[in-house]
Amino acid sequence: MARDRDEFEALVRHSRLLGSDENLVLHGGGNTSIKRTETDHAGRRVRVMRVKGSGGDLRSIGPEGFPGVRLDDLLPLRSRKDMTDAEMVAYLARCLTDPDARRPSIETLLHGFLPDAAIMHSHADAILALTNNPSPERHIRAALGEGFVIVPYRRPGFLLSKMVAAAREAHPDAKGAVLLNHGLFTWATTVEEAYRAHIRAVRAAERYLAGRRRKARPSKSTGDAAAFAPLLRGLLATPKRVILRLDRSPEVLAFAASPDAAARCRIGPATPDHLLHTKRLPCFLPTPEDAAPAIRAWSRSYEGWVKRWNREGHAVEDLLPRVVIVRGLGMWTAGRDPKQAGVVGDIYRHTIGILDATRGLGGFRSLSPREQFRGEYWELELYKRTLLPKEKELARQVAVVTGAARGIGKSIADRFLAEGACAVLHDRDAARLEATAAELGKRHGADRVIAVAGDVTRESDVTRLFDAARLGFGGVDLVVANAGVAPAGAVDRLELSDWERALAVNATGSFLASREGMRVMREQGTGGGFVFVGSKNVPAPGKEFGAYSAAKAAQTQLARVLALEGAPHGIRVNVLHPDAVFEDSGLWSPELRAERARAQGIDPSAVPEAYRKRSLLGREVRPSDVAEAALFVASERSSRITGAWLPVDAGLKEAFPR
Ligand code: ZN
Repeated sequence: MARDRDEFEALVRHSRLLGSDENLVLHGGGNTSIKRTETDHAGRRVRVMRVKGSGGDLRSIGPEGFPGVRLDDLLPLRSRKDMTDAEMVAYLARCLTDPDARRPSIETLLHGFLPDAAIMHSHADAILALTNNPSPERHIRAALGEGFVIVPYRRPGFLLSKMVAAAREAHPDAKGAVLLNHGLFTWATTVEEAYRAHIRAVRAAERYLAGRRRKARPSKSTGDAAAFAPLLRGLLATPKRVILRLDRSPEVLAFAASPDAAARCRIGPATPDHLLHTKRLPCFLPTPEDAAPAIRAWSRSYEGWVKRWNREGHAVEDLLPRVVIVRGLGMWTAGRDPKQAGVVGDIYRHTIGILDATRGLGGFRSLSPREQFRGEYWELELYKRTLLPKEKELARQVAVVTGAARGIGKSIADRFLAEGACAVLHDRDAARLEATAAELGKRHGADRVIAVAGDVTRESDVTRLFDAARLGFGGVDLVVANAGVAPAGAVDRLELSDWERALAVNATGSFLASREGMRVMREQGTGGGFVFVGSKNVPAPGKEFGAYSAAKAAQTQLARVLALEGAPHGIRVNVLHPDAVFEDSGLWSPELRAERARAQGIDPSAVPEAYRKRSLLGREVRPSDVAEAALFVASERSSRITGAWLPVDAGLKEAFPR
């Protein structure tokens, strides 16, 4: 009893250890199990296997990640001749000790048919290098000795489970099995022993490979990756936009520079588990100029391959590559969000490592095209996709927000992130920007937030801002021109420097962001949106706000021209005119509050209240109210609206658009 409990704890602990090493287990790969006695719902003692749930990640797995399967129900299956995947899944669902538990791993029967109490399975890079070459048996024996049974490739499922169990029975002393083009299983009576055997085998394989490794010549990035990214993102945006991740690591650049890179990109994946993420092949571009024709050719070839093997009529999501390797620039991977693009990137970076490692073993061998198809369109793997949450309103979009460290800008970024966008935040206040980015990253995912400190009035700073979006996410779909300053003073007392500063930040800053944003959006060719945060002072100017009102009017007029120029490209531009947003405001400096209080003959602390009472609705306007309006004009819900002004001021008769 106590031993069984300890073994379950050991399973969780060692599964996490296995999952924490990228060279062993990548994103949801690998699985582990134990067999023990448990007490069921009716108080009976039953033999149960705890096995990783489908789609779970060993790196962060907890006890709930291991559904219980009743072995007395599972074991009779071994006498069957064959079983389809669907039958297997339906059968396993009835073997669960808890009907609400997650679906057990697709390799459950393989674990179940083995008699051993503890089992660990990974798709370790070094093992795959030993198996994916022209003479796998020779290299496996030379690296690992005689202690492992070698099982020829067969797609995971019922028959593979029987094959491994039979191989184990034929070799009772074996410590584990090496499955060709698939990975490693180790078994033992305790989790710790199975884990140790696993690590020992992987380390032995690594040592063997290290002795045979041919060093790749190091290579550097030679081209302008930022300039190329939006073009690529546009080419990959059918039927839906993607987020791109760029990998410019020395290994990837060296691979891209190798003379046989194109040929090596045509071989195939390292293990069937990777196919769902990376698809069968990457697209290799010898130069960036080849992008459009090369991707078209890749799609045609992919379509032909699908037509040839898709005998069961599986739905095809898209015909585009997920991995694009460009000589001299690096590797881009595509996904619905940075996380997915990152998973694809991690997997292919490891595939490159395996490709390199097999150079000294006679070259890389992958699965047959038919098995590659069955891997990519394997219904049990496709099931993992159905576990993903539904996409949000701004999913797959990248928003650049200026003046994002606080107040309205921060609130808009927060709202867009909550709707699934990626955000590139810009502000002059570097310290506050960093704190905001950390806060929003914590709330929405650090991989979806980039912060770039800088001055919107400086051309080079704005270029740097948009380059960060190009490099970080592949491009830009939404630009929120929000950065603003409001120097107050009657015209006859206004300093020239205040006037110039108001124009520089409010108008020129919006111009520079618009110009860069427009360029990226046109390179992508997938439309886009601009949200200008103007001011109630445009339709209804106030005394002593000459510099601010004139600058905001220039910004608004720019937005209207941008709406004219953007429309033919599906780019919409709309202006919000907020009023009296005090919460967390950088615009409402203590000086401005004091100034307004003096003008109205009230105490500075009473200024927000005075503005609130002035509105028709008598309500305070918060940054989140402006953010809600920004979301509306940025979203598809306003797809027929461009060049519009939307007041967000709790109602002011004099500011009604007319
Ligand atoms: Zn596997």
